[in-house]
Amino acid sequence: MQARRKDTMPDDSLLPTRRTILGGTAALGTAALGTAALGTATLATLLSAGGTAAQTPAPRRSRLILLGTAGGPTPKPNRAAPAQAIVVDGHTYLIDAGNGTGRQMVLAKLKLGSLDSMFLTHQHSDHNADYGNVLLLAWATDLAHRVNTYGPPPLVRMTRQFLDLNESDIKTRMADEGRPPLADLIVPHEITGPGEVMRDERVTVTAAVVQHPPVEPAFAFRFDCPDRSIVISGDTRYSPNLIALAKGADVLVHEVMYLPELDKLIATEPNAKTLREHLIASHTTTEEVGRVATEAGVKTLVLSHFVPGGYPFIKDEVWLDAVRPHFKGEIVVGRDLMEL
Ligand SMILES: [Zn+2]
Ligand SMILES: [Zn+2]
Repeated sequence: MQARRKDTMPDDSLLPTRRTILGGTAALGTAALGTAALGTATLATLLSAGGTAAQTPAPRRSRLILLGTAGGPTPKPNRAAPAQAIVVDGHTYLIDAGNGTGRQMVLAKLKLGSLDSMFLTHQHSDHNADYGNVLLLAWATDLAHRVNTYGPPPLVRMTRQFLDLNESDIKTRMADEGRPPLADLIVPHEITGPGEVMRDERVTVTAAVVQHPPVEPAFAFRFDCPDRSIVISGDTRYSPNLIALAKGADVLVHEVMYLPELDKLIATEPNAKTLREHLIASHTTTEEVGRVATEAGVKTLVLSHFVPGGYPFIKDEVWLDAVRPHFKGEIVVGRDLMEL
């Protein structure tokens, strides 16, 4: 089990520092998008050289932060569980909430109390494990306004059961710390089909049904922000619905699976054949993700939800080389806390 042993031995040299990611792209703005595809090392070099200081563009109204870029439910040392934040004018729209999302928000310097709305793409634990926890922890920090949450059924029941599970802590903090009733602050909305999910003065959110068997329904979301459009694929195999949703989008964050490394990993599993068939039926290969981006005509493709996503760490170049023949636009290999 060579791969598994390596999984416990992170090679820190492969990990970007938080300063590289957050300090870097925030300052570079649009200019960063042109360099991000070259990898974080290039970005760091540019920054240390001060190469872009004279041409810093106006800050964007929308920020996209990759909070967690791993795929799958098992905790990994080098990538956090799936979650993305889109921040518009200081309001945080959270898409998925895998385990550890609250902490990733803190590491990204996002105020938990800035949470405006939450969106779950589907009910798999790598995407929803901290659905309730993010709300509970935000409330225990400084959240005092209503948060609308959107996701497939049984979102309403999950919300109620989460509140029941944590009744003791919630009652204690209400009495002890003067917090408002948490139940009054969470407004869950179940989504069962495609179309507009919500609209406010900053964003319009539209859902498409994607194919991620056996989980139904599973959604991709498009955020039309004041300055650009961002699409989050969720988990899906090659999906014509997603291509339609992402038509002409500025940024597409898409899940990705690299078969050569996956085959090595699952070869040791007793149910390798079944596992491989499941993954192929419900996820998108490097070749397919390139085709999706090309067919949708997006400007920037951001790879995330990497499978395999643990150790051994697959180098950025490997992902780029596998996708590049199929998409001529900009490709960004996502890392935790990367801001775009
Ligand atoms: Zn997933
Ligand atoms: Zn999934």
